[in-house]
Order: sequence, then structure tokens, then C-alpha cells
Amino acid sequence: MAIIDGKALAEKMQADLKTKTDKLIKKGITPGLVVILVGEDSASQVYVKNKERVANNLGFNSVVRRVEETISEADLLKIINQYNLDSQFHGILVQLPLPKHIDEEKVLLTIDPQKDVDGFHPLNMGKLWEGNPLMIPSTPAGIMEMFKEYNVDLTGKNAVIVGRSNIVGKPMAALLLQENATVTITHSKTKDLKDVTKQADILVVAIGVGHFITADFVKNGAVVIDVGMNRNGEGKLIGDVKFDEVSEVASLITPVPGGVGPMTITMLMEQTYQAAWRTIND
Ligand code: NDP
Repeated sequence: MAIIDGKALAEKMQADLKTKTDKLIKKGITPGLVVILVGEDSASQVYVKNKERVANNLGFNSVVRRVEETISEADLLKIINQYNLDSQFHGILVQLPLPKHIDEEKVLLTIDPQKDVDGFHPLNMGKLWEGNPLMIPSTPAGIMEMFKEYNVDLTGKNAVIVGRSNIVGKPMAALLLQENATVTITHSKTKDLKDVTKQADILVVAIGVGHFITADFVKNGAVVIDVGMNRNGEGKLIGDVKFDEVSEVASLITPVPGGVGPMTITMLMEQTYQAAWRTIND
């Protein structure tokens, strides 16, 4: 068994990205990323701070636009539209979740698809399923980089995804399909889940239930990717996969922390860079 070191890969990719960014800045384009944070959700604050730190390290023009929890939907859409028109910003991200009075769908539809670095706009989702992606959601994009780095050949493999969210499960399926895997998406209504996951050469788990996947869900020699981020009773970060026992069965596995997480933020920056690059190369 080998462990996929997401932290090391993220550091390597960020170093490469810094070099590319320096070159782009010399050509007069500084990648610009604005993160819009509505309200005071504590988990969101941490995510946004991390994004800001990495963007700054890379030399991006990084702005966090904080708005009151009580902002009206119309005012939020107006702010997004301002950034859509502002050529200094190549990436716009609205941190989710949003307060209940704001319609998430409307917000995502308002972001210019060319600047939608999260890849959640329906146009970007559609392009991804067409096999012609523009912006790809960062978490599955990071997982694809891991497969590349660790020479995981996906062609003809049985890939099983547990979880069907728009941000992880569904785009993951599209990307695996594009690389010629045979893809199955499972969810909370799937019957005999274990029988399905046992068929997986590649198992991607994104459910948000700590240590749900135990060794008896996993085929010998499978590649196991754990997207989950959960807090256990002691407040420790744990994955959806019970690492200690699944690592005995898997051929390759991601840890939590230090697996998928660091790659997600790196891919967000990569997409911002790509969006900036396209402004002079497309
Ligand atoms: P969602 O809550 O949006 O989706 C969870 C999915 O898991 C749903 O499709 C749900 O099924 C399915 N599910 C829940 N329980 C079970 C079960 N017992 N058996 C089978 N399927 C089940 O979650 P996200 O996709 O947003 O996130 C999943 C996890 O990944 C979370 O822990 C989150 O924190 C983490 N995450 C980590 C990221 C990172 O960068 N490391 C990035 C994004 C998420 P149904 O649709 O039927 O309800």
C-alpha cells in the first residue's frame, strides 16, 4: 500500500504555479481573484482565509469582499455583476453556504462563466459533461491530478463514487468518464452499497460521514480517495474512510488530513491563473 501525499503534490503544483504567475505578471497580467463572503459562518471564514493566504503567496491580486449577512439578494447580485465587468478580476467565487433568504441558484447563474473558478455555473457543469470543460470544480480536478501524479491508469477501470453532490460526486463522475473509466455513482438510497463498492478499482468517497467506509467495502488493491472532512468526538479532523483498516486493503489511498484538501485550494488557484492566461492567449 502507498499513501497519496496531497500536501506534497499541492506544494509542488503551487511552486510551478508561482513560476507561471511570475511570467504572466511580467507580461502585464496579474491573476485576480475575488472571494465574496456573506455573513460570519465560522467554517467559511477559515476556508476564505486559507484561499486568501495561498492567493497572496502566489502573487495574485486577491480580494476578500465581506458583506453583511442581511444583504439583499438584489444587492449581492449587483456586486457580482460589478466584478463580472471588472477586468482586474479573472476569478469570482461566492463562498457557500449562503443565508437562507438568498437563492444560491440565482447567485451561481449571475457569475460570468468565464470567471466562475469554482465551476458551479450550469454552463460549466454542462461543458464538463460534454467533455469540453472550461472551469472544473476544484475538488474533483485535484483528484484527477493525483491520479496523474501517481500513474493511475483509469482506462477501462471500474470507478465507484459514493456521494452525488454537485460540487464533488457529479463532476468527479464526468471527469472519470472522460478518462475512459466505467463509472457508477452511488448515494444514500443505493441498495447493497457494499456490493457496489466492492467492485471498484477506483473508489472515491464524498459523503460527509466520518469513518463510514470500512475495509469490508473495499476490493483488494483498490485505489481509495477520501474526500470527507468530518470532526470526531474529540474535534479531530477525520475522513469518510477508516484509514487504518482500509489502508491494509487498498493499493493507494489518500489520508485525511493531507490528501484531497490541500489539492482543492491549489486547483482553485490554477483555474484562476488559467482564466487570467486566457485573457491574452485566447
Ligand atoms: P453533500 O452533503 O452535498 O453530499 C453528500 C452525498 O453523500 C449525498 O449525495 C448523499 O446522498 C451521500 N450520502 C450521505 N450518506 C450516505 C450514506 N450513508 N451512504 C451513501 N451515500 C451517502 O456533501 P459534499 O459532497 O459537499 O461533501 C462530502 C464530504 O466531502 C464532506 O465531508 C465535505 O466536508 C467534504 N468535502 C471536502 C472537500 C475537500 O476539499 N477536501 C471539498 C468538498 C467537500 P443523497 O444524495 O442520497 O442524500
